[in-house]
Amino acid sequence: MRQTALVVEEAGRLALREMEVEESLGPGDARIRLHTVGICGSDIHYYLHGRIGPFVVREPMVLGHEAAGTVLEVGDQVTSLKPGDRVCMEPGIPDPASRASREGRYNLDPAVRFWATPPVHGVLRPTVIHPEAFTFKLPETVSFAEGAMVEPLAVGMHAATKAAIRPGDSAVVLGAGPIGMVTTLAALAGGCALVILSDLQQPKLDLAATLGPVVAVNAARDDLPAVVRRLTDGWGADIVFECSGSAKAASGVFDLICPGGRVVYVGMPPAPIAFDVIAAQVKEARIETVFRYAHVYPRALALMGSGKINVKPLITDTFAFADSIAAFEFAAALPPASVKAQILVDAG
Ligand code: ZN
Repeated sequence: MRQTALVVEEAGRLALREMEVEESLGPGDARIRLHTVGICGSDIHYYLHGRIGPFVVREPMVLGHEAAGTVLEVGDQVTSLKPGDRVCMEPGIPDPASRASREGRYNLDPAVRFWATPPVHGVLRPTVIHPEAFTFKLPETVSFAEGAMVEPLAVGMHAATKAAIRPGDSAVVLGAGPIGMVTTLAALAGGCALVILSDLQQPKLDLAATLGPVVAVNAARDDLPAVVRRLTDGWGADIVFECSGSAKAASGVFDLICPGGRVVYVGMPPAPIAFDVIAAQVKEARIETVFRYAHVYPRALALMGSGKINVKPLITDTFAFADSIAAFEFAAALPPASVKAQILVDAG
């Protein structure tokens, strides 16, 4: 099917143009009209650099994987969806028969097909066909814009789950970009009594301070380890979520945790980082990592639907589909007061 799509032609070059995307409606699929698509750090990376690690843009590829829309049509065997349903979609489809899937870790299936990860097209285009099993109805109170935030929120939820939060824990979140913000929301919803969020950009910290019991620390100005000690009776935080991807921040995490504390590496550093094994050992730190998420959408939507998580403050900038290229240029040079930019593929 030919549709107008936002395409990365090669590193540094975008086009909003007609594109042939081959798809057919299988018995277990839904055809969905896209409404809102968020711009993710990975989309920006493919635009600017044409690759992320081993994934290289070799053919023009449609960008976008944070999506919500409306069901247009369903296959014969679909039972949970009907035309008109408002939905959001999980962008990665694993092989259900793979060993990783059968072990409940389908995010680690090497065969997973993930939108806007070469060679799989993304969804900055009018329609997409997607399996029912990876398509989730939005609660009535959840808008399309919020629905398109479930994808990044799922990463924060997965990180909170890996941290094994106990009610009343204290957490430090390093980095107030979209992933740091959604991890903060997930940590609070998961039972943390306090999140100490650190970043270098004051406008982002000001926004973060409105999200709940959050102490926002400007690491350019304040001594983060000293703040953490002061707020934890000198003991250290139960959990550190490293969401900045910064080598400096990521190597200092063991100064921030309490004895027996947990560290979750969420942000992806652009290059390998060193960490101090002894600093981790003397606290018997437990170290966790996350890669995307596995079956977190229903829980994320439940938290949004009940009002326990509100992602609206994070959606700072909205662009029309016709302005998609400008939207990417904006997001690539994101101003300090902005967190998440989204594109309205269909404002109807
Ligand atoms: Zn994303």
